[in-house]
Amino acid sequence: LDAPLFADLAGDAAVSFEFFPPKSEKMEETLWSAIQTLAPLKPRFVSVTYGAGGSTRERTHHTVARIASETAIPAAAHLTCVEATKAEIEEIAREYWAAGVRHIVALRGDPPTEGASFAPHPDGYRNAAELVAGLKAIHPFEISVAAYPECHPEAASFDSDLANLKAKFDAGATRAITQFFFTPEAYFRFCDKARAAGITGEIVPGILPVSNVAQTRKFAGMCGAAIPAWMDRLFEGLDDHPATRQLVAATITAEMCRRLYAGGVRQFHFYTLNRAELAFAICHLLGLRAEAKALENAA
Ligand code: FAD
Repeated sequence: LDAPLFADLAGDAAVSFEFFPPKSEKMEETLWSAIQTLAPLKPRFVSVTYGAGGSTRERTHHTVARIASETAIPAAAHLTCVEATKAEIEEIAREYWAAGVRHIVALRGDPPTEGASFAPHPDGYRNAAELVAGLKAIHPFEISVAAYPECHPEAASFDSDLANLKAKFDAGATRAITQFFFTPEAYFRFCDKARAAGITGEIVPGILPVSNVAQTRKFAGMCGAAIPAWMDRLFEGLDDHPATRQLVAATITAEMCRRLYAGGVRQFHFYTLNRAELAFAICHLLGLRAEAKALENAA
C-alpha cells in the first residue's frame, strides 16, 4: 500500500511568510497575532509588502522595523520603483539599513491607477533589475526578486521574461519568489526553463492559500496567474460557509505543497494576507513543528 499522505515529509522545508502593512490598530493586532503564531515555525524570513506607488512607505517601514526589533525573525522590506527618484530610494534603503534590516524584496511595482501602464520616474529606476543594482551599490543587502511561472502579463514573451529574471540575478539578487500559481507543473516547467537559461539562483514558490476564489480571480487576471476551472467547482455553494472554505483551501494548498515537495522543493513562501491559520496548518502538514522559544521579546 502507498504510505499515508504527508507521512513522508521530514519537516526539512524552509518557509517564509509575507504580510502587508496594517492600516489600523485592529489590523495591527491581527498581524501581530499572526506573527506570534507563525514565528515558532522558525521562518527563515518574513517580508512586508509595499503599497502601490509607495503609498505605504511609512507603514511598511514601521512594520518591518517592529519585526526586526521585537522578534528574532529576519525581516525583509518590499520596495518598488514606482513614482520614486533614485535619491528617494537611496534614502529609504539607508533608513532600512540603519534600522538593522538587511533584506529587500526589490520590485518594479505597478502604477497606482489600475490598468495604467508603468512609466518610470524620469529620475528613477526603469525596472527591478536596475533597482537591484542600485540597492546593491548602496549597501550589501540580501535581495529577493519576483518571478512569474506563467509569465508576467506585460512581458513581450516567456523567453524575454526569463531573460529579465536572469538580469535581476546578474544584478545581485540572491533569490526569486514566484507569483502564486495553482498547478505544480507550471512551477516545475518554469524552473526547468530557468535552469536551461542559465539561472542558478533559488526560485522559491509563492504559495497563496485561497479561500475566496472570486476575489483571487480578480487579482489573478492582473498578475499573470491562471485559476483552474476545477477550483471554482471545489468552492461552489460555499459562499455562506467560511469555515468550510478554509478547510477546502487548506486541503487544496497542502496537496499542492505536497506535490512540490515530492518534486524536490524545500523552500516555500506563503502569502498569508496577515492570517496565520492556513499557512500554519500547511506548514504543519509539511512536517514543521513549532519551537516554543522562536519568538523573542514579542509584545
Ligand atoms: P520587472 O522585473 O521590472 O518586470 C516588469 C515587466 O517588464 C516584465 O514583463 C518584464 O519582462 C519586463 N521588463 C523588465 N525589464 C525589461 C527590459 N529591460 N526590456 C524589456 N522588458 C523588460 N507590487 C507592489 O506594488 N508591492 C509589493 O510589495 C509587491 N510584492 C510582490 C512580491 C512578489 C513575490 C511578487 C511576485 C510580486 C510583487 N508585487 C508587488 C507585484 C509586482 O510589483 C508586479 O508584478 C510588477 O508588475 C512587476 O514587478 P517586477 O519586479 O517583476 O518587475
